[in-house]
Amino acid sequence: MSLNFPLIQQIDALLPQTQCGLCGHRDGCLPYAKAISEGEAANKCIPGGQPVADQLATLLSRPKLQAEESIWPTQSDGRPQRMKAIIREEECIGCTKCISACPVDAIVGSGKLMHTIFTDLCTGCELCIPPCPVDCIDLIEDTSPIPQPKEQVVLQEDLRTRYYSHIIREEKRNTARRGPIVRAEIDTALFAEFSNHVQNVPKVEVYTENQPLKTETSAKTTIQLARLRTQIKKLEKQLSVREDEKKRAQLQVLEAELTELQGANA
Ligand code: SF4
Ligand code: SF4
Ligand code: SF4
Repeated sequence: MSLNFPLIQQIDALLPQTQCGLCGHRDGCLPYAKAISEGEAANKCIPGGQPVADQLATLLSRPKLQAEESIWPTQSDGRPQRMKAIIREEECIGCTKCISACPVDAIVGSGKLMHTIFTDLCTGCELCIPPCPVDCIDLIEDTSPIPQPKEQVVLQEDLRTRYYSHIIREEKRNTARRGPIVRAEIDTALFAEFSNHVQNVPKVEVYTENQPLKTETSAKTTIQLARLRTQIKKLEKQLSVREDEKKRAQLQVLEAELTELQGANA
């Protein structure tokens, strides 16, 4: 079935862009928008609460459904209480696991150093909490003023952009990953396809199968090159002590192999 991009975009524009996966779509708001466009119930966005369920019902000309319940109390705008995460910094061991878990890149820190959350950027999605090995991330109520509808749209646009940037970075890092993998298996194909059809989001590219393969080949080649050089050195050493016809021929074969391999990977 071909994707209805204009409709997906309209639906996605109403979703909070928290990317929490509480709607049952692990990879966030866009996969849920796509599923809604294909007929899935439009009342499952928990951070959006009743207002978002109602806006979606209106957009789709469907009957209004009761929004799925949040564990948090309802705010005056009808959405669930907003939350923010904070790190108990004195307990943080700097493992960096929370960084790749955060869909909107709200956490800063580097290996073995204390990490901090930019509370202004944090959506309270909770995705950083399970990966933390020392359980030093708490949730607190967000007491900042509730955004007006126009501010909410701006906020959502910013979060969407941050999430796409996060996906782009994670996708690049996956090919030469050094560091923890948390939620690294985002299905980037849909985001790439979507970003090619709409104007206002960063372009997501899926790494082709050749790219990881190239990394794998390079690693194999490096080992092969090292092995050849060691064998050549060993033979040269032996031949410098005593000439041997068989070893000389073997050396020539290895040198040719080395030249060929170096040429192929130049
Ligand atoms: S914000 Fe709503 S639509 Fe987006 S991932 Fe969370 S529950 Fe799903
Ligand atoms: S810091 Fe944690 S709770 Fe806040 S947005 Fe990032 S992952 Fe979500
Ligand atoms: S996951 Fe926990 S311990 Fe690791 S860097 Fe983040 S806050 Fe610190």
